[in-house]
Amino acid sequence: MRSDLVGLKPYGAPHLDVPVQLNVNENAYPIPDVVVESMRSAVDGHFAGLNRYPDREFEDLRGHLVSYLDGVNRRAGGAVDLSPEMIWAGNGSNEVLSHIVQAFGGPGRTVLGFTPSYSMHPLIATGTGASWQSSARNDDFALDADAVGAEVADVDPDIVFLCTPNNPTGTSIGLDVIEAAYDNCSGIVIVDEAYAEFSRPARPSAMTLLAGRPRLVVSRTMSKAFACAGLRLGYAIAAPELIDVLRLVRLPYHLSDITQVLACTALEHADVLLDNVDRLIDSRDRISQHLRDVGFTVFPSDSNFVLFGNISSPQTLWQRLLDRGILIRDIGITHHARVNAGTEVETTAFLRAIDEILGEDP
Ligand code: PMP
Repeated sequence: MRSDLVGLKPYGAPHLDVPVQLNVNENAYPIPDVVVESMRSAVDGHFAGLNRYPDREFEDLRGHLVSYLDGVNRRAGGAVDLSPEMIWAGNGSNEVLSHIVQAFGGPGRTVLGFTPSYSMHPLIATGTGASWQSSARNDDFALDADAVGAEVADVDPDIVFLCTPNNPTGTSIGLDVIEAAYDNCSGIVIVDEAYAEFSRPARPSAMTLLAGRPRLVVSRTMSKAFACAGLRLGYAIAAPELIDVLRLVRLPYHLSDITQVLACTALEHADVLLDNVDRLIDSRDRISQHLRDVGFTVFPSDSNFVLFGNISSPQTLWQRLLDRGILIRDIGITHHARVNAGTEVETTAFLRAIDEILGEDP
């Protein structure tokens, strides 16, 4: 075993089969029947051709992603000139991020992140042999441009991770923070926008900064708003030259034919799939309001989860919710926990359980 891996902990959210699962930021709603039917008929014509390798360049999928993103940017009021050569895709955005870090990180290189943030960023970095450096966020978990610019200038990293909305805090950053990170280093700036579709009103994506910034890369996923976590499809948007480099580190034919066809079908039904985003935002806001009313501190969330604090023992709260069939996430931040926006019914179950627990032991 590589000595630099000794002592590291693998990604390990508990996977428990309980009625109300609010712990890994999935979309609580199943794929609507109309999309299931389309997916079924779309794959039907692909079985006999599975003797052949899939399209290595996933051209159809790239085209579908460009169309979807054009709509996203138009609605957010920021025109971006996207083309298929600016798109990369992988089996989840985790794979996309690991491709980027394999290509631009590795031994002798430094990757900087602002923690608490997504726990896979350091694991992906150290997995390539790069050294991970974390800089602590403010007490309210916000980031401001001056502080980020100064930190990036000081560390001079080869790669910077920014995550907006940030997991596990739900907080967003302004484009000025991304510009500050970019302007203060000569490395790659990765903006992880896994939860972007849950920001309302829609914020302009870091994609709007791509023109003239060849070291900027934006990653997104179909696991969250699109309700396709089981499909495993993430993607990145960057200058064609940066995307081209990723071909050196991906394994040949990394995206199966079935994955490609299902992802295209999901994108054709983007409107239907994204219909539940409003419901999840309602649940998120209901959770935030209720938790605040009963005395927790709640961080403003632009995602499909809520980070709350002022919990005497997150481990005890986690267990008492689990005893009631509800799974949330103890993310290891003292006195804090994270809960996902569930369906209306799940959200009600969670809030009732919270009231019961507080009633037993205020
Ligand atoms: N980025 C962030 C911030 C995440 O929270 C997650 C999943 N929890 C991912 C990326 C990876 O998601 P996926 O591989 O399913 O696209």
